[in-house]
Amino acid sequence: MFNLNFLKSRTANNLDKDQTIDLDIKKIRNDFPILNQKIYDRDLVYFDNGATTQKPQVVIEAINQVHADYNSNVHRGIHFLSGQMTEMYEEARNKIQKFLNAEHPHEIIFTGGVTDSLNLVAYSFGEAYIKAGDEIIVSEMEHHSNIVPWQIVCQQKGAVLKVIPFNDQGELLLEEYKKLITPKTKIVAVTHVSNSLGTVNPVKEIIEIAHAHQVPVLIDGAQAIQHEEVDVQALDCDFYAFSGHKVYGPTCIGILYGKERWLNEMPPYRSGGDMIDRVSFAKTTYNELPFKFEAGTPNYIGAIGLGHAFDYLSGLGMKNIRQREKKMLDYAGEKLSAIPGLRVYGTAEDKACLFSFLLDGIHPYDAGVLLDRMGIAVRTGHHCTHPLWAHFQTEGSIRASLVFYNTFEEIDALIEAILKIKKMAEVKSELPAFNSAESAQKTIEQTQQDIVAEFKGIDDWLDKYNLLIQLGKTLPAIGEDKKTDEVLIKGCQMRTWYQSSLVEGRVHFEIDSMSLVIRGAIVLLMRVLEGRTPAEIKNTDLHFIDEAGLRPLFSPTNANSLWKMVTQMQTDATTDEKGE
Ligand code: PMP
Repeated sequence: MFNLNFLKSRTANNLDKDQTIDLDIKKIRNDFPILNQKIYDRDLVYFDNGATTQKPQVVIEAINQVHADYNSNVHRGIHFLSGQMTEMYEEARNKIQKFLNAEHPHEIIFTGGVTDSLNLVAYSFGEAYIKAGDEIIVSEMEHHSNIVPWQIVCQQKGAVLKVIPFNDQGELLLEEYKKLITPKTKIVAVTHVSNSLGTVNPVKEIIEIAHAHQVPVLIDGAQAIQHEEVDVQALDCDFYAFSGHKVYGPTCIGILYGKERWLNEMPPYRSGGDMIDRVSFAKTTYNELPFKFEAGTPNYIGAIGLGHAFDYLSGLGMKNIRQREKKMLDYAGEKLSAIPGLRVYGTAEDKACLFSFLLDGIHPYDAGVLLDRMGIAVRTGHHCTHPLWAHFQTEGSIRASLVFYNTFEEIDALIEAILKIKKMAEVKSELPAFNSAESAQKTIEQTQQDIVAEFKGIDDWLDKYNLLIQLGKTLPAIGEDKKTDEVLIKGCQMRTWYQSSLVEGRVHFEIDSMSLVIRGAIVLLMRVLEGRTPAEIKNTDLHFIDEAGLRPLFSPTNANSLWKMVTQMQTDATTDEKGE
Protein backbone atom coordinates (compact mmCIF):
# COMPACT_ATOMS: atom_id res chain seq x y z
CA MET A 1 0.00 0.00 0.00
CA PHE A 2 1.05 3.58 -0.75
CA ASN A 3 3.90 2.37 -2.85
CA LEU A 4 3.90 4.75 -5.76
CA ASN A 5 6.86 3.07 -7.41
CA PHE A 6 4.71 0.86 -9.55
CA LEU A 7 3.38 3.99 -11.14
CA LYS A 8 6.79 4.98 -12.36
CA SER A 9 7.27 4.27 -16.08
CA ARG A 10 7.37 0.55 -16.74
CA THR A 11 8.23 0.68 -20.35
CA ALA A 12 9.28 -1.95 -22.84
CA ASN A 13 12.53 -0.26 -23.79
CA ASN A 14 14.38 2.75 -22.55
CA LEU A 15 15.54 4.58 -25.59
CA ASP A 16 16.76 7.95 -26.68
CA LYS A 17 14.04 10.01 -28.33
CA ASP A 18 15.83 10.20 -31.67
CA GLN A 19 17.12 6.65 -31.88
CA THR A 20 15.26 4.26 -34.19
CA ILE A 21 15.47 0.52 -33.73
CA ASP A 22 13.48 -2.49 -34.86
CA LEU A 23 11.00 -3.25 -32.11
CA ASP A 24 11.09 -6.70 -30.53
CA ILE A 25 7.54 -7.63 -31.46
CA LYS A 26 7.55 -11.04 -29.82
CA LYS A 27 8.38 -9.41 -26.50
CA ILE A 28 5.99 -6.52 -27.11
CA ARG A 29 3.07 -8.84 -27.89
CA ASN A 30 3.51 -10.40 -24.46
CA ASP A 31 2.76 -6.98 -23.00
CA PHE A 32 -0.76 -7.26 -24.47
CA PRO A 33 -2.46 -10.25 -22.81
CA ILE A 34 -5.51 -10.17 -25.08
CA LEU A 35 -3.41 -10.80 -28.20
CA ASN A 36 -2.37 -14.25 -27.07
CA GLN A 37 -5.79 -15.81 -27.18
CA LYS A 38 -7.63 -17.99 -29.62
CA ILE A 39 -10.95 -17.06 -31.22
CA TYR A 40 -12.98 -19.98 -32.61
CA ASP A 41 -9.87 -22.11 -32.02
CA ARG A 42 -7.77 -19.88 -34.26
CA ASP A 43 -5.07 -17.40 -33.29
CA LEU A 44 -6.66 -14.00 -32.88
CA VAL A 45 -5.62 -11.50 -35.54
CA TYR A 46 -6.75 -8.13 -34.26
CA PHE A 47 -7.07 -5.68 -37.14
CA ASP A 48 -9.72 -3.41 -35.64
CA ASN A 49 -7.33 -0.99 -34.01
CA GLY A 50 -9.01 1.98 -35.66
CA ALA A 51 -12.04 1.24 -33.51
CA THR A 52 -10.06 0.67 -30.34
CA THR A 53 -6.56 -0.47 -29.44
CA GLN A 54 -5.63 -3.19 -26.97
CA LYS A 55 -4.16 -2.37 -23.59
CA PRO A 56 -0.66 -3.20 -22.38
CA GLN A 57 -0.30 -4.93 -19.03
CA VAL A 58 1.12 -1.74 -17.43
CA VAL A 59 -2.14 0.09 -18.16
CA ILE A 60 -4.29 -2.79 -16.91
CA GLU A 61 -2.19 -3.11 -13.76
CA ALA A 62 -2.24 0.61 -13.07
CA ILE A 63 -6.03 0.72 -13.34
CA ASN A 64 -6.44 -2.30 -11.07
CA GLN A 65 -3.94 -1.14 -8.53
CA VAL A 66 -5.24 2.39 -8.33
CA HIS A 67 -8.71 0.96 -7.70
CA ALA A 68 -7.38 -1.48 -5.15
CA ASP A 69 -5.06 0.76 -3.16
CA TYR A 70 -5.63 4.42 -3.83
CA ASN A 71 -9.18 5.10 -4.83
CA SER A 72 -10.53 8.39 -3.56
CA ASN A 73 -12.11 11.40 -5.23
CA VAL A 74 -9.76 14.07 -6.55
CA HIS A 75 -9.54 17.77 -5.70
CA ARG A 76 -12.00 17.47 -2.82
CA GLY A 77 -10.74 15.59 0.17
CA ILE A 78 -8.21 16.89 2.62
CA HIS A 79 -7.44 13.32 3.59
CA PHE A 80 -4.39 11.31 2.60
CA LEU A 81 -5.91 9.14 -0.13
CA SER A 82 -7.55 12.07 -1.85
CA GLY A 83 -4.26 13.93 -1.81
CA GLN A 84 -2.44 10.95 -3.34
CA MET A 85 -5.06 10.53 -6.00
CA THR A 86 -5.08 14.20 -6.91
CA GLU A 87 -1.30 14.07 -7.25
CA MET A 88 -1.51 11.08 -9.59
CA TYR A 89 -4.28 12.68 -11.64
CA GLU A 90 -2.30 15.88 -12.11
CA GLU A 91 0.83 13.85 -12.82
CA ALA A 92 -1.09 12.18 -15.68
CA ARG A 93 -1.94 15.63 -17.04
CA ASN A 94 1.74 16.59 -16.89
CA LYS A 95 2.74 13.44 -18.76
CA ILE A 96 0.26 14.20 -21.52
CA GLN A 97 1.38 17.81 -21.68
CA LYS A 98 4.95 16.59 -22.20
CA PHE A 99 3.92 13.98 -24.76
CA LEU A 100 2.09 16.59 -26.81
CA ASN A 101 4.67 19.28 -26.04
CA ALA A 102 1.92 21.66 -24.90
CA GLU A 103 3.16 24.88 -23.34
CA HIS A 104 1.16 24.53 -20.11
CA PRO A 105 -0.39 21.60 -18.22
CA HIS A 106 -3.63 23.58 -17.87
CA GLU A 107 -4.02 23.46 -21.66
CA ILE A 108 -4.73 19.75 -21.27
CA ILE A 109 -8.41 19.13 -20.49
CA PHE A 110 -9.56 15.64 -19.53
CA THR A 111 -12.78 14.79 -21.34
CA GLY A 112 -14.85 11.67 -21.90
CA GLY A 113 -13.23 11.00 -25.32
CA VAL A 114 -12.66 12.71 -28.63
CA THR A 115 -16.39 13.02 -29.31
CA ASP A 116 -16.74 14.84 -26.02
CA SER A 117 -13.73 17.05 -26.83
CA LEU A 118 -15.11 17.99 -30.25
CA ASN A 119 -18.52 18.78 -28.77
CA LEU A 120 -16.84 20.91 -26.14
CA VAL A 121 -15.09 23.05 -28.74
CA ALA A 122 -18.10 23.25 -31.06
CA TYR A 123 -20.40 24.36 -28.26
CA SER A 124 -18.07 26.58 -26.33
CA PHE A 125 -16.20 28.16 -29.25
CA GLY A 126 -19.56 28.50 -30.98
CA GLU A 127 -21.00 30.34 -27.98
CA ALA A 128 -18.03 32.69 -27.79
CA TYR A 129 -17.35 33.51 -31.40
CA ILE A 130 -19.92 32.31 -33.92
CA LYS A 131 -22.86 34.38 -35.06
CA ALA A 132 -25.34 34.41 -37.97
CA GLY A 133 -23.66 34.40 -41.38
CA ASP A 134 -20.29 33.15 -40.06
CA GLU A 135 -18.61 30.18 -41.70
CA ILE A 136 -17.10 26.97 -40.35
CA ILE A 137 -14.89 24.73 -42.49
CA VAL A 138 -14.70 20.97 -42.10
CA SER A 139 -13.55 18.34 -44.61
CA GLU A 140 -15.41 15.76 -46.65
CA MET A 141 -13.56 12.96 -44.85
CA GLU A 142 -14.53 13.87 -41.27
CA HIS A 143 -15.89 11.38 -38.77
CA HIS A 144 -19.51 12.21 -37.93
CA SER A 145 -18.34 13.49 -34.57
CA ASN A 146 -16.45 16.30 -36.30
CA ILE A 147 -19.44 17.14 -38.52
CA VAL A 148 -22.61 16.89 -36.47
CA PRO A 149 -21.57 19.15 -33.54
CA TRP A 150 -20.68 21.85 -36.12
CA GLN A 151 -23.97 21.33 -37.96
CA ILE A 152 -25.77 21.90 -34.67
CA VAL A 153 -23.78 25.11 -34.06
CA CYS A 154 -24.69 26.24 -37.59
CA GLN A 155 -28.36 25.53 -36.99
CA GLN A 156 -28.36 27.33 -33.66
CA LYS A 157 -26.37 30.35 -34.78
CA GLY A 158 -27.41 30.64 -38.41
CA ALA A 159 -23.85 29.94 -39.53
CA VAL A 160 -22.77 28.09 -42.69
CA LEU A 161 -20.80 24.83 -42.91
CA LYS A 162 -18.30 24.64 -45.78
CA VAL A 163 -16.58 21.46 -46.85
CA ILE A 164 -13.03 20.83 -48.15
CA PRO A 165 -13.32 18.17 -50.88
CA PHE A 166 -10.86 15.33 -51.49
CA ASN A 167 -9.70 13.57 -54.66
CA ASP A 168 -10.19 9.89 -55.46
CA GLN A 169 -6.91 8.99 -53.76
CA GLY A 170 -8.39 10.43 -50.60
CA GLU A 171 -6.23 13.56 -50.45
CA LEU A 172 -7.68 16.91 -49.42
CA LEU A 173 -7.70 19.50 -52.20
CA LEU A 174 -5.76 22.34 -50.62
CA GLU A 175 -6.37 24.70 -53.52
CA GLU A 176 -10.12 24.29 -52.95
CA TYR A 177 -9.59 24.76 -49.23
CA LYS A 178 -7.86 28.07 -49.80
CA LYS A 179 -10.83 29.26 -51.84
CA LEU A 180 -13.24 28.39 -49.02
CA ILE A 181 -11.64 30.76 -46.50
CA THR A 182 -13.32 34.16 -46.37
CA PRO A 183 -13.42 37.00 -43.81
CA LYS A 184 -16.45 35.19 -42.34
CA THR A 185 -14.54 31.98 -41.59
CA LYS A 186 -14.40 31.50 -37.82
CA ILE A 187 -12.80 28.06 -37.44
CA VAL A 188 -11.40 25.14 -39.46
CA ALA A 189 -11.95 21.63 -38.05
CA VAL A 190 -10.19 18.74 -39.79
CA THR A 191 -9.01 15.27 -39.02
CA HIS A 192 -5.29 14.55 -38.80
CA VAL A 193 -5.68 10.98 -40.11
CA SER A 194 -8.81 9.69 -41.83
CA ASN A 195 -10.34 6.76 -39.97
CA SER A 196 -11.85 5.40 -43.21
CA LEU A 197 -9.00 5.95 -45.68
CA GLY A 198 -5.88 6.24 -43.55
CA THR A 199 -4.88 9.51 -45.25
CA VAL A 200 -2.47 11.55 -43.15
CA ASN A 201 -3.56 15.10 -43.87
CA PRO A 202 -1.00 17.90 -44.21
CA VAL A 203 -2.29 19.52 -41.04
CA LYS A 204 0.70 21.83 -40.60
CA GLU A 205 0.01 23.37 -43.99
CA ILE A 206 -3.74 23.49 -43.32
CA ILE A 207 -3.03 25.36 -40.08
CA GLU A 208 -0.60 27.78 -41.73
CA ILE A 209 -3.15 28.63 -44.42
CA ALA A 210 -5.88 29.28 -41.83
CA HIS A 211 -3.56 31.29 -39.59
CA ALA A 212 -2.62 33.52 -42.48
CA HIS A 213 -6.27 34.61 -42.24
CA GLN A 214 -6.28 34.66 -38.40
CA VAL A 215 -8.57 31.62 -38.38
CA PRO A 216 -8.00 29.03 -35.61
CA VAL A 217 -7.79 25.31 -36.37
CA LEU A 218 -9.07 22.28 -34.49
CA ILE A 219 -7.43 18.94 -35.29
CA ASP A 220 -9.23 15.66 -34.64
CA GLY A 221 -6.26 13.50 -33.73
CA ALA A 222 -8.22 10.34 -32.90
CA GLN A 223 -6.41 8.29 -35.57
CA ALA A 224 -3.06 10.07 -35.50
CA ILE A 225 -1.83 10.20 -31.93
CA GLN A 226 -1.23 6.41 -31.80
CA HIS A 227 0.85 6.40 -34.97
CA GLU A 228 3.13 9.40 -34.89
CA GLU A 229 4.73 12.09 -32.78
CA VAL A 230 2.41 15.02 -32.27
CA ASP A 231 3.91 18.31 -31.17
CA VAL A 232 1.10 20.82 -30.72
CA GLN A 233 3.46 23.77 -30.51
CA ALA A 234 5.31 22.80 -33.68
CA LEU A 235 1.97 22.27 -35.44
CA ASP A 236 0.71 25.51 -33.91
CA CYS A 237 -2.81 24.04 -33.83
CA ASP A 238 -5.35 25.84 -31.67
CA PHE A 239 -7.07 22.65 -30.50
CA TYR A 240 -6.08 18.98 -30.68
CA ALA A 241 -8.47 16.22 -29.59
CA PHE A 242 -8.27 12.45 -29.15
CA SER A 243 -9.63 9.46 -27.23
CA GLY A 244 -7.68 7.43 -24.69
CA HIS A 245 -8.97 4.06 -25.84
CA LYS A 246 -7.50 4.46 -29.33
CA VAL A 247 -4.06 5.12 -27.91
CA TYR A 248 -3.72 1.99 -25.74
CA GLY A 249 -5.40 3.67 -22.75
CA PRO A 250 -8.75 3.13 -21.06
CA THR A 251 -12.18 3.97 -22.49
CA CYS A 252 -14.24 7.02 -21.57
CA ILE A 253 -11.24 9.25 -21.13
CA GLY A 254 -10.06 11.70 -23.75
CA ILE A 255 -8.06 14.84 -24.21
CA LEU A 256 -8.71 18.27 -25.49
CA TYR A 257 -5.59 20.35 -25.91
CA GLY A 258 -6.45 24.01 -26.40
CA LYS A 259 -4.28 27.10 -26.49
CA GLU A 260 -4.61 28.96 -23.22
CA ARG A 261 -5.87 32.07 -24.97
CA TRP A 262 -8.92 30.32 -26.43
CA LEU A 263 -9.71 28.22 -23.38
CA ASN A 264 -9.61 31.31 -21.18
CA GLU A 265 -12.02 33.17 -23.42
CA MET A 266 -14.43 30.30 -24.08
CA PRO A 267 -17.37 29.77 -21.70
CA PRO A 268 -17.79 26.48 -19.80
CA TYR A 269 -19.35 23.60 -21.72
CA ARG A 270 -20.75 21.51 -18.88
CA SER A 271 -21.36 22.91 -15.44
CA GLY A 272 -21.55 21.66 -11.88
CA GLY A 273 -18.97 20.81 -9.22
CA ASP A 274 -15.26 21.52 -9.61
CA MET A 275 -15.69 23.96 -12.51
CA ILE A 276 -16.80 26.78 -10.23
CA ASP A 277 -14.93 29.29 -8.16
CA ARG A 278 -17.85 30.62 -6.09
CA VAL A 279 -21.59 29.93 -6.40
CA SER A 280 -24.34 32.17 -5.16
CA PHE A 281 -27.87 32.63 -6.42
CA ALA A 282 -26.93 36.11 -7.54
CA LYS A 283 -23.81 35.16 -9.49
CA THR A 284 -21.48 32.24 -10.08
CA THR A 285 -17.84 32.62 -10.98
CA TYR A 286 -15.82 29.90 -12.67
CA ASN A 287 -12.69 28.04 -11.73
CA GLU A 288 -9.42 28.57 -13.55
CA LEU A 289 -8.12 26.31 -16.31
CA PRO A 290 -8.20 23.37 -16.72
CA PHE A 291 -10.96 22.86 -14.12
CA LYS A 292 -13.37 25.28 -15.79
CA PHE A 293 -13.88 22.53 -18.38
CA GLU A 294 -13.88 19.55 -16.02
CA ALA A 295 -17.27 19.67 -14.31
CA GLY A 296 -18.13 16.88 -11.90
CA THR A 297 -15.98 13.97 -10.78
CA PRO A 298 -13.55 13.33 -13.61
CA ASN A 299 -12.50 9.91 -14.81
CA TYR A 300 -9.34 10.15 -12.71
CA ILE A 301 -8.54 6.46 -12.93
CA GLY A 302 -8.91 6.60 -16.70
CA ALA A 303 -6.60 9.62 -16.76
CA ILE A 304 -3.95 7.76 -14.76
CA GLY A 305 -4.29 4.74 -17.06
CA LEU A 306 -3.85 7.01 -20.05
CA GLY A 307 -0.73 8.52 -18.53
CA HIS A 308 0.69 4.99 -18.33
CA ALA A 309 -0.24 4.29 -21.93
CA PHE A 310 1.84 7.31 -22.96
CA ASP A 311 4.72 6.13 -20.77
CA TYR A 312 4.56 2.83 -22.57
CA LEU A 313 4.58 4.48 -26.00
CA SER A 314 7.45 6.76 -25.03
CA GLY A 315 9.35 3.66 -23.99
CA LEU A 316 8.86 2.11 -27.40
CA GLY A 317 9.59 5.37 -29.17
CA MET A 318 7.07 6.90 -31.55
CA LYS A 319 9.68 6.93 -34.32
CA ASN A 320 10.14 3.16 -33.95
CA ILE A 321 6.39 2.68 -33.97
CA ARG A 322 6.04 4.72 -37.14
CA GLN A 323 8.90 2.87 -38.79
CA ARG A 324 7.36 -0.53 -38.04
CA GLU A 325 3.89 0.52 -39.14
CA LYS A 326 5.29 1.93 -42.37
CA LYS A 327 6.94 -1.41 -43.17
CA MET A 328 3.63 -3.21 -42.58
CA LEU A 329 1.82 -0.59 -44.68
CA ASP A 330 4.12 -1.25 -47.64
CA TYR A 331 3.98 -5.03 -47.22
CA ALA A 332 0.20 -5.28 -46.84
CA GLY A 333 -0.41 -2.62 -49.50
CA GLU A 334 1.54 -4.56 -52.08
CA LYS A 335 -0.13 -7.87 -51.23
CA LEU A 336 -3.66 -6.46 -51.18
CA SER A 337 -3.31 -4.57 -54.42
CA ALA A 338 -2.17 -7.78 -56.16
CA ILE A 339 -5.54 -9.45 -55.44
CA PRO A 340 -7.82 -9.22 -58.49
CA GLY A 341 -11.26 -7.82 -57.75
CA LEU A 342 -10.07 -6.07 -54.58
CA ARG A 343 -10.39 -2.30 -54.56
CA VAL A 344 -8.51 -0.28 -51.95
CA TYR A 345 -10.05 3.06 -50.97
CA GLY A 346 -7.50 5.60 -49.82
CA THR A 347 -4.22 5.59 -51.69
CA ALA A 348 -2.79 8.89 -50.49
CA GLU A 349 0.98 9.41 -50.61
CA ASP A 350 1.07 9.69 -46.83
CA LYS A 351 -1.16 7.21 -45.06
CA ALA A 352 -1.43 5.29 -41.82
CA CYS A 353 -1.36 1.49 -41.79
CA LEU A 354 -5.06 1.20 -42.50
CA PHE A 355 -6.76 -0.49 -45.45
CA SER A 356 -10.32 0.12 -46.53
CA PHE A 357 -11.31 -2.20 -49.32
CA LEU A 358 -14.15 -3.90 -51.13
CA LEU A 359 -14.19 -7.29 -52.79
CA ASP A 360 -16.13 -7.81 -55.99
CA GLY A 361 -19.18 -10.03 -55.57
CA ILE A 362 -19.29 -10.05 -51.78
CA HIS A 363 -20.84 -7.62 -49.35
CA PRO A 364 -18.52 -6.25 -46.64
CA TYR A 365 -20.80 -7.77 -44.00
CA ASP A 366 -20.30 -11.25 -45.45
CA ALA A 367 -16.56 -10.76 -45.74
CA GLY A 368 -16.49 -9.48 -42.15
CA VAL A 369 -18.30 -12.49 -40.68
CA LEU A 370 -16.17 -14.92 -42.67
CA LEU A 371 -12.95 -13.19 -41.60
CA ASP A 372 -14.19 -13.28 -38.03
CA ARG A 373 -14.69 -17.04 -38.23
CA MET A 374 -11.11 -17.28 -39.44
CA GLY A 375 -10.02 -15.43 -36.30
CA ILE A 376 -9.48 -12.07 -38.03
CA ALA A 377 -11.21 -9.07 -36.46
CA VAL A 378 -11.89 -6.27 -38.96
CA ARG A 379 -14.49 -3.54 -39.10
CA THR A 380 -17.14 -3.37 -41.81
CA GLY A 381 -19.62 -0.65 -42.69
CA HIS A 382 -19.43 3.13 -43.02
CA HIS A 383 -17.08 3.74 -40.06
CA CYS A 384 -19.13 6.85 -39.14
CA THR A 385 -18.15 8.71 -42.33
CA HIS A 386 -21.29 8.75 -44.51
CA PRO A 387 -20.21 11.80 -46.58
CA LEU A 388 -16.87 10.16 -47.33
CA TRP A 389 -18.56 7.07 -48.77
CA ALA A 390 -21.01 9.23 -50.69
CA HIS A 391 -17.94 10.60 -52.51
CA PHE A 392 -17.12 7.08 -53.68
CA GLN A 393 -20.82 6.30 -54.32
CA THR A 394 -20.70 3.29 -52.05
CA GLU A 395 -21.87 2.60 -48.53
CA GLY A 396 -18.74 1.55 -46.74
CA SER A 397 -15.90 -0.91 -46.73
CA ILE A 398 -14.03 -3.68 -44.99
CA ARG A 399 -11.41 -1.95 -42.86
CA ALA A 400 -8.23 -3.54 -41.56
CA SER A 401 -6.38 -1.13 -39.28
CA LEU A 402 -2.99 -2.23 -38.02
CA VAL A 403 -0.68 -1.01 -35.29
CA PHE A 404 2.85 -1.85 -34.19
CA TYR A 405 1.91 -5.05 -32.34
CA ASN A 406 0.49 -6.62 -35.50
CA THR A 407 2.75 -8.89 -37.50
CA PHE A 408 3.66 -9.71 -41.08
CA GLU A 409 2.38 -13.26 -40.47
CA GLU A 410 -1.00 -11.77 -39.56
CA ILE A 411 -1.01 -9.86 -42.84
CA ASP A 412 -0.31 -13.15 -44.65
CA ALA A 413 -3.24 -14.72 -42.76
CA LEU A 414 -5.49 -11.88 -43.93
CA ILE A 415 -4.42 -12.32 -47.55
CA GLU A 416 -5.00 -16.06 -47.38
CA ALA A 417 -8.43 -15.55 -45.81
CA ILE A 418 -9.42 -13.01 -48.48
CA LEU A 419 -8.45 -15.44 -51.23
CA LYS A 420 -10.59 -18.13 -49.58
CA ILE A 421 -13.55 -15.75 -49.34
CA LYS A 422 -13.14 -14.71 -52.94
CA LYS A 423 -13.31 -18.34 -53.99
CA MET A 424 -16.54 -18.87 -52.01
CA ALA A 425 -18.05 -15.79 -53.61
CA GLU A 426 -16.89 -16.53 -57.14
CA VAL A 427 -17.62 -20.24 -57.49
CA LYS A 428 -20.83 -20.99 -59.38
CA SER A 429 -23.37 -22.51 -57.01
CA GLU A 430 -24.18 -26.08 -57.90
CA LEU A 431 -27.38 -26.00 -55.88
CA PRO A 432 -30.68 -25.88 -57.80
CA ALA A 433 -32.37 -22.49 -58.06
CA PHE A 434 -34.92 -21.90 -55.34
CA ASN A 435 -38.32 -23.06 -56.56
CA SER A 436 -41.29 -21.94 -54.50
CA ALA A 437 -43.79 -24.33 -56.18
CA GLU A 438 -41.54 -27.28 -55.43
CA SER A 439 -40.94 -26.38 -51.82
CA ALA A 440 -44.67 -25.93 -51.16
CA GLN A 441 -45.21 -29.59 -52.01
CA LYS A 442 -43.44 -30.71 -48.85
CA THR A 443 -44.94 -30.22 -45.41
CA ILE A 444 -43.48 -27.53 -43.19
CA GLU A 445 -42.23 -30.15 -40.77
CA GLN A 446 -40.57 -32.24 -43.49
CA THR A 447 -38.83 -29.15 -44.89
CA GLN A 448 -37.52 -28.21 -41.46
CA GLN A 449 -36.19 -31.72 -40.92
CA ASP A 450 -34.49 -31.67 -44.33
CA ILE A 451 -32.74 -28.40 -43.52
CA VAL A 452 -31.58 -29.73 -40.16
CA ALA A 453 -30.18 -32.83 -41.91
CA GLU A 454 -28.36 -30.69 -44.49
CA PHE A 455 -26.61 -28.62 -41.84
CA LYS A 456 -26.19 -31.24 -39.10
CA GLY A 457 -23.32 -33.04 -40.79
CA ILE A 458 -21.26 -29.85 -41.13
CA ASP A 459 -18.92 -29.24 -38.22
CA ASP A 460 -16.86 -26.35 -39.49
CA TRP A 461 -18.41 -22.90 -39.08
CA LEU A 462 -16.87 -21.77 -42.30
CA ASP A 463 -18.45 -24.65 -44.22
CA LYS A 464 -21.83 -23.69 -42.78
CA TYR A 465 -21.38 -20.14 -43.98
CA ASN A 466 -20.23 -21.45 -47.34
CA LEU A 467 -23.41 -23.50 -47.70
CA LEU A 468 -25.46 -20.40 -46.87
CA ILE A 469 -23.51 -18.39 -49.46
CA GLN A 470 -24.08 -21.02 -52.13
CA LEU A 471 -27.77 -21.18 -51.17
CA GLY A 472 -27.87 -17.39 -51.27
CA LYS A 473 -26.83 -17.43 -54.89
CA THR A 474 -29.92 -19.50 -55.76
CA LEU A 475 -32.42 -16.88 -54.55
CA PRO A 476 -34.01 -15.09 -57.51
CA ALA A 477 -33.27 -11.37 -57.27
CA ILE A 478 -36.20 -8.99 -56.94
CA GLY A 479 -36.36 -6.21 -59.55
CA GLU A 480 -34.38 -3.01 -58.87
CA ASP A 481 -37.68 -1.08 -58.99
CA LYS A 482 -38.89 -3.08 -55.99
CA LYS A 483 -35.87 -2.22 -53.85
CA THR A 484 -37.46 0.88 -52.39
CA ASP A 485 -36.89 2.51 -49.02
CA GLU A 486 -40.46 1.63 -47.97
CA VAL A 487 -39.68 -2.08 -48.03
CA LEU A 488 -36.16 -1.79 -46.65
CA ILE A 489 -35.57 -3.42 -43.29
CA LYS A 490 -34.05 -0.58 -41.30
CA GLY A 491 -31.18 -0.49 -38.90
CA CYS A 492 -28.55 -2.79 -40.29
CA GLN A 493 -25.32 -2.77 -42.27
CA MET A 494 -26.56 -4.72 -45.27
CA ARG A 495 -29.65 -3.68 -47.17
CA THR A 496 -32.47 -6.23 -47.05
CA TRP A 497 -35.80 -5.65 -48.79
CA TYR A 498 -38.91 -7.46 -47.65
CA GLN A 499 -42.49 -7.61 -48.87
CA SER A 500 -45.32 -10.13 -48.46
CA SER A 501 -48.71 -10.53 -50.09
CA LEU A 502 -51.73 -12.75 -49.63
CA VAL A 503 -53.02 -14.39 -52.83
CA GLU A 504 -55.90 -16.86 -52.68
CA GLY A 505 -55.31 -17.57 -49.02
CA ARG A 506 -51.55 -18.17 -49.35
CA VAL A 507 -48.71 -15.85 -48.30
CA HIS A 508 -46.02 -15.00 -50.84
CA PHE A 509 -42.75 -13.31 -50.00
CA GLU A 510 -40.51 -11.12 -52.09
CA ILE A 511 -37.24 -10.74 -50.26
CA ASP A 512 -33.74 -9.80 -51.31
CA SER A 513 -30.56 -8.78 -49.57
CA MET A 514 -27.13 -7.45 -50.50
CA SER A 515 -25.61 -10.09 -48.26
CA LEU A 516 -25.20 -13.58 -49.69
CA VAL A 517 -25.20 -15.09 -46.20
CA ILE A 518 -28.52 -13.41 -45.41
CA ARG A 519 -29.84 -14.50 -48.83
CA GLY A 520 -28.94 -18.06 -47.88
CA ALA A 521 -30.99 -17.72 -44.69
CA ILE A 522 -33.83 -16.21 -46.74
CA VAL A 523 -33.85 -19.29 -49.01
CA LEU A 524 -34.21 -21.53 -45.96
CA LEU A 525 -37.03 -19.44 -44.52
CA MET A 526 -38.77 -19.34 -47.90
CA ARG A 527 -38.49 -23.10 -48.21
CA VAL A 528 -40.38 -23.42 -44.93
CA LEU A 529 -42.86 -20.53 -45.18
CA GLU A 530 -43.40 -19.51 -48.81
CA GLY A 531 -46.87 -20.27 -50.19
CA ARG A 532 -48.29 -21.46 -46.86
CA THR A 533 -51.51 -20.24 -45.28
CA PRO A 534 -51.37 -17.46 -42.67
CA ALA A 535 -52.40 -19.96 -39.98
CA GLU A 536 -49.60 -22.36 -40.93
CA ILE A 537 -47.01 -19.59 -40.85
CA LYS A 538 -48.19 -18.21 -37.56
CA ASN A 539 -48.14 -21.65 -35.90
CA THR A 540 -44.69 -22.68 -37.17
CA ASP A 541 -42.05 -22.62 -34.46
CA LEU A 542 -39.09 -22.52 -36.92
CA HIS A 543 -37.20 -25.03 -34.78
CA PHE A 544 -34.77 -25.66 -37.66
CA ILE A 545 -32.96 -22.41 -36.85
CA ASP A 546 -31.60 -23.80 -33.59
CA GLU A 547 -31.44 -27.46 -34.57
CA ALA A 548 -29.43 -26.73 -37.71
CA GLY A 549 -27.10 -24.56 -35.59
CA LEU A 550 -27.90 -21.42 -37.57
CA ARG A 551 -28.56 -19.00 -34.72
CA PRO A 552 -24.90 -18.52 -33.70
CA LEU A 553 -24.06 -17.71 -37.32
CA PHE A 554 -26.12 -14.54 -37.08
CA SER A 555 -25.40 -12.29 -34.14
CA PRO A 556 -28.41 -10.28 -32.92
CA THR A 557 -26.50 -7.03 -33.42
CA ASN A 558 -24.90 -7.63 -36.82
CA ALA A 559 -27.68 -9.62 -38.43
CA ASN A 560 -30.60 -7.79 -36.93
CA SER A 561 -32.25 -7.44 -40.35
CA LEU A 562 -32.59 -11.21 -40.48
CA TRP A 563 -34.21 -11.47 -37.08
CA LYS A 564 -36.47 -8.49 -37.77
CA MET A 565 -37.50 -10.22 -40.99
CA VAL A 566 -38.30 -13.52 -39.24
CA THR A 567 -40.54 -11.64 -36.81
CA GLN A 568 -42.08 -9.71 -39.68
CA MET A 569 -42.89 -12.88 -41.64
CA GLN A 570 -44.85 -14.27 -38.74
CA THR A 571 -46.44 -10.96 -37.74
CA ASP A 572 -47.62 -10.40 -41.30
CA ALA A 573 -49.19 -13.85 -41.30
CA THR A 574 -51.13 -12.95 -38.15
CA THR A 575 -52.32 -9.73 -39.78
CA ASP A 576 -53.26 -11.54 -42.98
CA GLU A 577 -55.14 -14.13 -41.01
CA LYS A 578 -57.20 -11.43 -39.31
CA GLY A 579 -57.85 -9.83 -42.68
CA GLU A 580 -59.13 -13.05 -44.20
N1 PMP B 1 -12.82 10.96 -34.91
C1 PMP B 1 -12.16 10.00 -35.56
C2 PMP B 1 -11.21 10.37 -36.68
C3 PMP B 1 -12.36 8.67 -35.21
O1 PMP B 1 -11.70 7.70 -35.84
C4 PMP B 1 -13.26 8.36 -34.15
C5 PMP B 1 -13.54 6.92 -33.77
N2 PMP B 1 -13.70 6.06 -34.85
C6 PMP B 1 -13.91 9.40 -33.52
C7 PMP B 1 -13.67 10.69 -33.92
C8 PMP B 1 -14.86 9.14 -32.37
O2 PMP B 1 -14.16 8.51 -31.33
P1 PMP B 1 -14.83 8.17 -29.92
O3 PMP B 1 -15.94 7.24 -30.24
O4 PMP B 1 -13.73 7.54 -29.14
O5 PMP B 1 -15.30 9.44 -29.30
